[in-house]
Amino acid sequence: MEVSKQANLPTKFGNFIIQSFREDNNKAEHLVLKSNELGAIPLVRVHSECMTGDVFGSRKCDCGDELEIAMKRIAAENGMIIYLRQEGRGIGLFNKVNAYNLQDNGYDTVEANNKLGFGADLRNYDIVGKIFDYYGIKSIRLLTNNPKKISEISKFVKVQRDSILATPNQYNKEYLKIKQSKLGHLLES
Ligand SMILES: [Zn+2]
Repeated sequence: MEVSKQANLPTKFGNFIIQSFREDNNKAEHLVLKSNELGAIPLVRVHSECMTGDVFGSRKCDCGDELEIAMKRIAAENGMIIYLRQEGRGIGLFNKVNAYNLQDNGYDTVEANNKLGFGADLRNYDIVGKIFDYYGIKSIRLLTNNPKKISEISKFVKVQRDSILATPNQYNKEYLKIKQSKLGHLLES
């Protein structure tokens, strides 16, 4: 893993320090946005890239809303966003668009990934452990509704879960229902 220098990143949600981590094997470039002080038990959001939601404000998912909630809370309470470049639950942007086409034709998010020959969720969190080691973090409050993420990240640090609930809209109701029924997400606080 290569680690970049740190720099200041003022945002509309608050001031952060930005730092990038590059993986040795696949050269994926991840990002950390952290508050100046981390506090004893930092509030952490491990957010997997969703270009459609995070950048373009897509209403098909809740990623953009979750990222915004996380940035506001972390700016206020101290901690970090770990932004992982694993688009579309790990299948990549191109395949995600093909999955969206299947969703337009009646498949749910999990069925669409399966139809394309992918698992429901291919995300990998190994780099997160290395990032926590780099900052000397042993214990966190993790902003997530995803039990798989809690168990993966508990391999590296002591995790207390803190819920993150975006307001559903008419386009992502079905997506959220599938997250709950097929991926076991905890969609209540
Ligand atoms: Zn998304």
